[in-house]
Amino acid sequence: MGPPGVGKGTQASILKDHYEIPHISTGEILRKEIALNSGIGKISKKYINDGLFVPDEILIEIIQDYLIKFKNKEGYILDGYPRNLQQVEDLEILLKKLNQSIDVAISITAKKEELINRLIKRRKDTGRSDDAIGIISKRQDVYWDQTAPIIKHYRGKGMLKEVDGLGTIEEITKRIINTI
Ligand code: AMP
Repeated sequence: MGPPGVGKGTQASILKDHYEIPHISTGEILRKEIALNSGIGKISKKYINDGLFVPDEILIEIIQDYLIKFKNKEGYILDGYPRNLQQVEDLEILLKKLNQSIDVAISITAKKEELINRLIKRRKDTGRSDDAIGIISKRQDVYWDQTAPIIKHYRGKGMLKEVDGLGTIEEITKRIINTI
């Protein structure tokens, strides 16, 4: 977990190689669906481009498909899911059904000004449509409003590890691996 621009995707893709487990990024999955112009893609596009969350029912369907597909793996990294309290609940029900549990919830932290600068740069590098100036700040607000409460939830369960997201990519990877 962590606000947009904190480096979740970058870190998760390094960690998937380190631990040799799949990386399930809901943002990436949705962007692929949009590129394919699928049913899910068509619905998701307008939410993503407005900086809003795609409906929970769509997300749990996607997560269920992936967790079933990877059920024989040693584990997996969920990147960008769950993102609100309803998704935490949906995930808990699904994990129970699959007889699985979460080992650790990692929250990567950084200051808002740093994040906005990173997202402006990412827009230049990748052309991601939801990194447009107006949408960046909306996504930060949605994060603090909807995702921040789930950090409290995992802290309360004793599962939360907080990692400082300021520094080089390698420094942050080391911090995450040490904390795991
Ligand atoms: P990300 O790549 O994780 O920053 O996600 C990009 C966008 O995809 C988000 O701003 C949301 O619009 C959508 N999205 C990704 N994951 C979720 C989720 N768990 N729930 C709802 N929407 C999501």
